Amino acid sequence: MRASIQSKPIITNHNMINTMNNVPCPVCGRPTKHQIDGRCRNCFLETVTLASIPLVIHANICPMCGSVKKGKHWEDPNYEIEYLMRDVIKQKLKIDFQAHDVTTSISLTNSNASIYRAQITVTADIKGVKAESQLNTEVRISKETCDACSRMAGGYYEAIVQIRAEGRFPDEHEQQQMVKLIDRVVERQNQRGDRFAFISNAQELPEGTDIYLGSNSTARQAVRTAVERFGCTYSESPTLAGKKDGKDIYRVTYSLRLPRLVPGDIINVGKDTVLVNRSAKMTNGLYLESGLEFSEHTDRLKNANKVADVDEAENAVVVSVEHDMVQVMHPSTFKQVTIKKPVHFTGTGGEDVRVILMEEIIFILPS
Ligand SMILES: [Zn+2]
Ligand SMILES: [Zn+2]
Repeated sequence: MRASIQSKPIITNHNMINTMNNVPCPVCGRPTKHQIDGRCRNCFLETVTLASIPLVIHANICPMCGSVKKGKHWEDPNYEIEYLMRDVIKQKLKIDFQAHDVTTSISLTNSNASIYRAQITVTADIKGVKAESQLNTEVRISKETCDACSRMAGGYYEAIVQIRAEGRFPDEHEQQQMVKLIDRVVERQNQRGDRFAFISNAQELPEGTDIYLGSNSTARQAVRTAVERFGCTYSESPTLAGKKDGKDIYRVTYSLRLPRLVPGDIINVGKDTVLVNRSAKMTNGLYLESGLEFSEHTDRLKNANKVADVDEAENAVVVSVEHDMVQVMHPSTFKQVTIKKPVHFTGTGGEDVRVILMEEIIFILPS
């Protein structure tokens, strides 16, 4: 009895202070300076669920490309598996809507390649109170082939790009260049998020190469790039491939034609021999005999034939130069051949030059 009597004034004393700034918590009775939602800090935190997460999270990952399924969609990987696991966890993590300044740290351990255990610490500010929550979860990885990989494996395509050339067959080097260009566009479009930017098939034919692409928009990009870079022309023809969700599905064939003439071609134009430097709408180059500039609408060169290639050039020695005539030693017959001096030649005799041989005729190439 005495003890309780003795303690009474202490409580009273306490209560006096409370009326100033310490009020007992209505839930636990402890004195508290700042009440949050009418209770002390601890009792307030009891009412709050800062963060929650399912005990088990299922993640589908494509074993072919590492894409991760999010809802019904697949998202490209481009990240390490641990990064993906953190991403999957963050997506499933529910945080109280009143929380501010949220920081989340996740520590991962994996016992095998398909199960990742995670310890998650969430700290935040709720109504001015610092709160922390420790959670555990387990990510179970299932393997599922993604939409893009299953399409690729099934040889799916939306477009065919046919690599051809105008009035001739494209040579191997040209075809390789075009395939490389398409490859680069595919890679770029893939990085930009076109999941179906892939090559599903390639066929080499006598007249050129056919490239089958999973994405029509990527095929179109590739064709446009080829037009810009190589002066190609193209035609496109859609064919009905079936129906999907009541809509007609088309496949598009792009017939891409490399220009008939390419830099380095040596052609006959009437009686003249011309070295082609550029050919798009206009063809520009040099008259090999005079060294003067040549320029003509490509349309008007339909009868011009390729007679040699600049790659076939050989070395020869200039013996002497007199006025507008040059004497060159033929590199295989060693006879001296006299030709008109082309305007680009400024030598005086004794120098090595690159020449194009056409039977008995010699053309000096510009250096
Ligand atoms: Zn309390
Ligand atoms: Zn995949």
